[in-house]
Amino acid sequence: MNRNHFLEQLAAEEPWDVAIIGGGATGLGVAVDAATRGFRTLLVEADDFSKGTSSRSTKLVHGGVRYLEQGDIPLVLEALRERGLLHRNAPHLVHHLSFIVPRYQWWEGPFFGIGLKVYDALAGKLNLAPSRLLSREETIARIPNIESENLLGGVEYFDGQFDDARLAITLARTAAHHGATMLNYVRVTALKKSAGMVSGFVCADAETGQQYDVSARVVINATGIFSDDIRRMDDSLAPSAVQPSQGVHLVFDRSFLRGDSAIMVPHTDDGRVLFVIPWHGRVLVGTTDTPMTQPEIEPRALDTEIGFILRNAARYLARDPKESDILSIFAGQRPLVRRPGKDGTATKTVSRNHEVLVSDAGLVTIVGGKWTTYRKMAEDTMDHAIMLTALDDNPCVTADLQLHGWRSPNATALPSGLTEFGSDGAAILTLMNDDPELACPIHPAMPYPLAVIAWAARHEAARSVEDILSRRTRVLLLDARVAIEAAPAVAQVLARELGRDDAWTQAQVAAFSALATGYLHRSQS
Ligand SMILES: Cc1cc2nc3c(=O)[nH]c(=O)nc-3n(C[C@H](O)[C@H](O)[C@H](O)COP(=O)(O)OP(=O)(O)OC[C@H]3O[C@@H](n4cnc5c(N)ncnc54)[C@H](O)[C@@H]3O)c2cc1C
Repeated sequence: MNRNHFLEQLAAEEPWDVAIIGGGATGLGVAVDAATRGFRTLLVEADDFSKGTSSRSTKLVHGGVRYLEQGDIPLVLEALRERGLLHRNAPHLVHHLSFIVPRYQWWEGPFFGIGLKVYDALAGKLNLAPSRLLSREETIARIPNIESENLLGGVEYFDGQFDDARLAITLARTAAHHGATMLNYVRVTALKKSAGMVSGFVCADAETGQQYDVSARVVINATGIFSDDIRRMDDSLAPSAVQPSQGVHLVFDRSFLRGDSAIMVPHTDDGRVLFVIPWHGRVLVGTTDTPMTQPEIEPRALDTEIGFILRNAARYLARDPKESDILSIFAGQRPLVRRPGKDGTATKTVSRNHEVLVSDAGLVTIVGGKWTTYRKMAEDTMDHAIMLTALDDNPCVTADLQLHGWRSPNATALPSGLTEFGSDGAAILTLMNDDPELACPIHPAMPYPLAVIAWAARHEAARSVEDILSRRTRVLLLDARVAIEAAPAVAQVLARELGRDDAWTQAQVAAFSALATGYLHRSQS
């Protein structure tokens, strides 16, 4: 992906078939769908790809055991099918993970055991492996540091795990490969109308301030928690369509969760689901579900959310995690569909289903959903767009589309830190061979080599130290202090790649350190 080349295409002012606002899971999925149906496609993202909610998920490709309990069978069925497709189309990014529901009460065995058998059955042919009851001894063998007092046993089931920001970049590259123009750091500031219908938008490059005029047969609003802002550019009186709900994760050292299984707690002390998950050599614990009044691109965890996670994690882990053990805190906001009469309260019961809304002026907005169902959301969105406009009725092909970097799961394993780059891993290894300096790690505590910076600048539209440390690699989410320590070395390599001077390098380090401090616990900064 060459940003300058894409900007030239934008400046040419030729009309697009499909112009998408927002480069998170939803917009990127629509770009892949539109481009592979043969449409001339543009996507603009105000910040970096997946800077918003899409880099801050629990990293599960899942049917959603919780939605099963809520009786939302169609959502579970759809998500389980999508889980299977994504595993097939991006095996370098999605793998199976064992989850254990610990049992401390006699009735939990039959209750969760039967529920998870239903989950298996709904997955049908795409089931990963059958769930099963575990004895107390088996449960402790799988999770050696689970809280063993009063433990009766567990129920094991399987779901998918992935790297959200790496999947986002993978989708951007897949769309670009199929001809789409994919621009980060370009913000839409106004919609254009012709004869009362939305006919394009005005947008500006955040790096230069240059404005661009875009005409398109259909404009898709895929801005997640910011959807209402775009809807009100079309109709200042448009009712709110989205309810932001904040979810927080705390990250700890791997010693808190030994073994290869995750813990899934179906009912915390206030009825939520809690996951304790191994990820990239650390442990993620979360999440929360806090209704928010304002959407935030860089949300901050509330003290109550941190306290809730620490308190509940302590009930299931032999060693109680404390504030001083936190390596990183990250928060994201779910773009839940707002239903009349349900605004603002108890978002844990609000459906994770998606909805496509078409305004009187023809603006197509897609809200809700989850990462797992991004492909189906995109298909539904483009089906609506085709119905609405005179676009050719080209069929959706993404169910069988291998994503960029696809690599056989049986191929020789790549070194840790490069696995999620898939087939690009070989090219990054070549960069390391050609320049041994690039073979050095970004930081001694992280597996990523400096070569990924050069790679991300050249091929993945990385523009800042934050892009590298938060989304092209996941250092910021894994350990905020390590990320701050790594920033100067990252800035230097990136400055060389992008042709920037010392002042830029210093400003980048300062800006990143200020941002990353917000990922530390207050008591640590
Ligand atoms: C805590 C948490 C845990 C989750 N865990 C999971 C999980 O494990 N599995 C799962 O399947 N799902 C999960 N989800 C849900 C999933 O992450 C979201 O549904 C998904 O990421 C939403 O993507 P999006 O593209 O709609 O929104 P976003 O990722 O927020 O993208 C919208 C983008 O629009 C851009 N934008 C806004 N205004 C403009 C403008 N004017 N011009 C241009 N661009 C603009 C923003 O910068 C942003 O990048 C989780 C969500 C949360 C919050």
